[in-house]
Amino acid sequence: MTFIGSLDQGTTSTRFMIFDHDAQLIASDQLEHRQILPQAGWVEHDGAQIWANAQKVMAGALEKAGLKRSDLAAIGITNQRETTLAWDVTTGAPLHNAIVWQDTRTAEFMNDLSESDKKSVIHKTGLAIAPYFSASKMNWLINNVHSVKVAVQAGNARIGTIDSWILWNLSGGTFATDVTNASRTALMNLETLDWDPDLLALFGVPRSVLADIRSTSEVYAKTSDGVPIASLVGDQQGAMIGQACFGIGDSKTTYGTGNFALVNTGTTIVRSTHGLLTTLCYKLGDAPAVYALEGSVAVTGSAIQWLRDQIGIISSSSEVEGLAASVADSGGVYFVPAFSGLFAPYWRSDARGVLVGLTRATTKAHIARAALEAIAYQTRDVMDAMAADSKVTLTQMRVDGGATANNLLMQIQSDVMGIEVVRPKVIETTALGAAYAAGLAIGIWKSPQDLRNNWHEDQRWSATQSPVLREEKYLLWKKAVERTLNWIE
Ligand code: ADP
Repeated sequence: MTFIGSLDQGTTSTRFMIFDHDAQLIASDQLEHRQILPQAGWVEHDGAQIWANAQKVMAGALEKAGLKRSDLAAIGITNQRETTLAWDVTTGAPLHNAIVWQDTRTAEFMNDLSESDKKSVIHKTGLAIAPYFSASKMNWLINNVHSVKVAVQAGNARIGTIDSWILWNLSGGTFATDVTNASRTALMNLETLDWDPDLLALFGVPRSVLADIRSTSEVYAKTSDGVPIASLVGDQQGAMIGQACFGIGDSKTTYGTGNFALVNTGTTIVRSTHGLLTTLCYKLGDAPAVYALEGSVAVTGSAIQWLRDQIGIISSSSEVEGLAASVADSGGVYFVPAFSGLFAPYWRSDARGVLVGLTRATTKAHIARAALEAIAYQTRDVMDAMAADSKVTLTQMRVDGGATANNLLMQIQSDVMGIEVVRPKVIETTALGAAYAAGLAIGIWKSPQDLRNNWHEDQRWSATQSPVLREEKYLLWKKAVERTLNWIE
């Protein structure tokens, strides 16, 4: 038997999953980590806790499977993207908490860039002007944390995304990242696939603190017991591989903390005119890089966590389905969870959340339903942008991620978009994608074509709502989005 391990370091938790050659899940283990919220708009993670959890879940899953680490043919790593950590090579310890992708502390820095610099960032990186990406977070760490500045000057600092932190620890000192993660820093040039000197100067990040950019699928290093570490891939791109989206036009939407829709554009760099990002999809070893268009939505599943943790109308995320199903519709309530501004296709860091259309008859069930609808409407916003950019009318959408366990949400999604929604058997496609990329690197699978055969449909949903009602409600959603804008002066 062949086993491949996949470490999935996500926004809320870290898991280790062990797959076999047929992509069957053999065992998994998972641990949540602390969300550190020092002030409004700031979100941090403890890098040391993340590495400790990674080791624990690896040991936990191996124990459940009755395996030793050295029984694994390879390990792949996938991770929350953009989140940025600085550490000291002499001590191996983080110099500050990681600044998480949702953190908006650098919104003003980004807004204050000159118009020509903004244009250059967008053109060279394919990204948008937002505090979301790593470069402004790196700039903040270097200029605001004394120990980071000192370590940079002494040549002891390493600054990178979470893939590089995990690899550095797991390999005992290899410092590398892959094109998918690097494409989210706003420092990598989409054409050269290398750090761009002008962007490094603009964000004040010295080349010497950054990792080497390598492919998504190759042996970067081995663990102390000789297991090849053979993939590094950002979580959303991992899901593309896990969903076998290897053809031009293949797309998927992942429902997690946020929602992320990607479409494969092949070896062509397609630039969006509708608010999407151009990003790396993957680079498998020496094969040419493949690009994607991406619609990123910041708050979807985390709005359900907010109902649970801050508002308290449910006691677990899965309870939202029953509560929302207890009413036929949202009773005219619209909820736009623009907690930290709006990402695609709006890119407005001045937006904040709204709950509108309330009446004396509104109940917590209407609010729960409005929260599920918000996930679906935000997904429609980015899928409409994708259709406009690619001039292709979508007839179905492949979905995955934790929140796709919610069948009502899947039905609402189909109703809101008027297309079929298709869920595969494995919804943990991010971890599966990292396992695939690692297996391809060491020859367990010969080609992406081999992996398509592993994809199996679980269920599909078709729209039941009339097109007229669908568009009426969507216009109200757009009106609710308008209400969120220009809130932060
Ligand atoms: P990530 O990898 O981003 O941490 P997951 O894929 O594990 O996320 O998905 C977890 C997210 O999905 C959480 O934000 C949670 O609130 C949401 N979620 C989980 N189950 C459900 C459900 N049944 N209905 C709606 N949302 C859910």
